[in-house]
Amino acid sequence: MSLVSALALTVSGGQLEPARYEPRELRDDDVRIDIAYAGICHSDIHVVREEWHAALIPLVPGHEITGVVSQVGSAVVNFRPGDRVGVGNMVDSCGTCEFCLAGQEQFCVTDPVMTYNVRGYDGEPTRGGYARQVTVTERFVVKVPDALALDVAAPLLCAGVTTWEPLVRWGVGAGTRVAVVGLGGLGHVAVKLAKAMGAHVTVVSRSAAKRADALTLGASDYLATEKTALDTVHSSFDLVINTVSSGIDLNDMLRAVRPMGVVVNLGLPVEMYSLHPYALVQGNRVLAGSNIGGVAATQEMLDFCGEHAIGAEIELIDAAEVNTAYDRVVAGAVRYRAVIDVSTIPDGGKIL
Ligand code: NAP
Ligand code: ZN
Repeated sequence: MSLVSALALTVSGGQLEPARYEPRELRDDDVRIDIAYAGICHSDIHVVREEWHAALIPLVPGHEITGVVSQVGSAVVNFRPGDRVGVGNMVDSCGTCEFCLAGQEQFCVTDPVMTYNVRGYDGEPTRGGYARQVTVTERFVVKVPDALALDVAAPLLCAGVTTWEPLVRWGVGAGTRVAVVGLGGLGHVAVKLAKAMGAHVTVVSRSAAKRADALTLGASDYLATEKTALDTVHSSFDLVINTVSSGIDLNDMLRAVRPMGVVVNLGLPVEMYSLHPYALVQGNRVLAGSNIGGVAATQEMLDFCGEHAIGAEIELIDAAEVNTAYDRVVAGAVRYRAVIDVSTIPDGGKIL
């Protein structure tokens, strides 16, 4: 079988570089996908830089994947060659536990198989979307609506579903007052989704630099925290979505929600948060987390985005730019998601 060209981390502390690997034999329930685009999520950077824990090296990152089906196994019923599809954070789960049956595969009791940086149930390392091809169990493939171009759809596979889940779970609808903290990959999609759901959206950002963009994306208000401390806007929001990738003060966010309001934390910084008990107890405020989203929710989110013409705002980059793109994401310079055109991944490099 011909080797899959990819971008890989082959040594701890190294840069991503061209590499190749042997794809698995097509299983009966497998969908083989020619990848077109892969978004760069900040989680990819946390993983590649081993900020959370040691990575499973060699590592091919990428969990915001769109492309076209090239081949299907004999038992596949929902996909055919030529279908426009996406793959997100997960590629397998037990399929039988209460969470899988409820469409919340991310909580699978056997542990879901993530798209990269883990071993699948067969013991082989999974390889992600910074590659020309991926092979995934049918259950974890979703359809990209015709109305969405594959490049702007790619970030929806993680940033989209991760922000969709808490907006739906906490009942965002017409008139809900939502604040989105951090206008990056997740944040800017959250603004678009919340706006389309009818919410009144406020963006909370470090500086005034993104004000015009925030308003164009659908926000009605904008707070630059360098000028306005978040705790000066007491009891203003029903829901605050924190997407900041570094340590930040959640107490300010709790004070900014109305009594019985909710702060949902999506950020996964290395730093610990500190919590003042009063910030939680006064006003019965809720501090919640949210971890990606299930496959059914991912499809619902994509269909919603198709109906509302919601795609990510992207910077399309070549494979050769991926390492500098990482630095630019960390510096907050990307507006608002870097997406790799995987056709630019060269053939050659180490065989993994
Ligand atoms: P991103 O594109 O880098 O956006 C993060 C934003 O946070 C930046 O644009 C910036 O917004 C703000 N920010 C960064 N450093 C900051 C600092 N020191 N102080 C204040 N604000 C800062 O990242 P992303 O891809 O959206 O991911 C965001 C976080 O969510 C990451 O930690 C990622 O690992 C995590 N994540 C979680 C899930 C989940 O399931 N919960 C899923 C995907 C990602 P401003 O310039 O507007 O301030
Ligand atoms: Zn992600």
